Amino acid sequence: MNTILVVGSVALDTVKTFSGASHDALGGSATFFSLAARHFAPVQLVGVVGSDFPREHRVLLSERGIDLSGLKIAKGKTFRWSGRYGKDASVAKTLATHLNVFKDFSPKLDEAHRKAPVVFLANIDPALQAEVLAQMKAPALVAADTMNFWIKSKPQAIKELLAKVDIFFCNEDEAEELAERPNPLQAAEVIASWGPSVVVVKKGEHGALMKIGSRFYIFPPFPLADIKDPTGAGDTFAGGFLGYLASTGVYDDVDHLKRAMAYGSVLASFNVEDFSTKNIEDLDREGIDERFHDFVDRMSVPRSDELLKSRKAALA
Ligand code: AMP
Repeated sequence: MNTILVVGSVALDTVKTFSGASHDALGGSATFFSLAARHFAPVQLVGVVGSDFPREHRVLLSERGIDLSGLKIAKGKTFRWSGRYGKDASVAKTLATHLNVFKDFSPKLDEAHRKAPVVFLANIDPALQAEVLAQMKAPALVAADTMNFWIKSKPQAIKELLAKVDIFFCNEDEAEELAERPNPLQAAEVIASWGPSVVVVKKGEHGALMKIGSRFYIFPPFPLADIKDPTGAGDTFAGGFLGYLASTGVYDDVDHLKRAMAYGSVLASFNVEDFSTKNIEDLDREGIDERFHDFVDRMSVPRSDELLKSRKAALA
């Protein structure tokens, strides 16, 4: 089995959405990612929490098989983020970001962590992402994510990191801001020119794009009428995507990458149905696969023999 090492935030989130609110609830990019990816591959989490981090959250993660030997407990307060969502569920307005223990965090990976074949540099300071990557032995696949907070404060560090990344995930507005381009297609072109062979641009409720080589692939979202809390959608998407890919051990096959997009969409769809990690804590693989098949069935458009014939005739 191809183990995935993830470095990212483990957080206490305070969130207001169109359907309610939650205060100091379990969150963080590495948390959401791990809870999604664990269904497909072993996950090692590298990060830091403060002495105020509730024990029950650690228990929850470790009971679900996530290796927490790289999750340090430091003196001080846990990373906190607070945000608000308006009608457009794909855009979070950040109200406050308190790095707290992440300010002085300098991860030291042990031998078992350094050997992981798949690395996910989840949303966190790009300097920390680079520090972790530099300690890895020879990962077969490196993927990364970021967000506007870091694009605004450390754009150069992100660009340098991308030279060493195979798959990059970002939101539409973040891609446009990072690449300084007016639309996601142009932005993905620019980002791909910096290094990643696969660029995934997430468009929230409007689905996602994947650029491989010169080709763009388009994906709808799983249709949900009732979204409660979009927080963590991006990280659970990456968790489903990379988890599935790690389970195949093949990282450059277009069909595998398309299935990975579908698994990403499915995991994200479960996550947004409730606040914090509530709806993804007790998922099982059977339920995930059921929604995966439902999703790919709904997406497929049957080819029309007649249209194909007339197209061939026109070309002849
Ligand atoms: P997303 O999947 O994009 O919705 O990510 C949501 C998670 O990102 C939340 O649980 C936050 O704790 C975390 N987060 C927000 N801002 C930052 C930041 N600047 N660095 C790291 N993690 C963050």
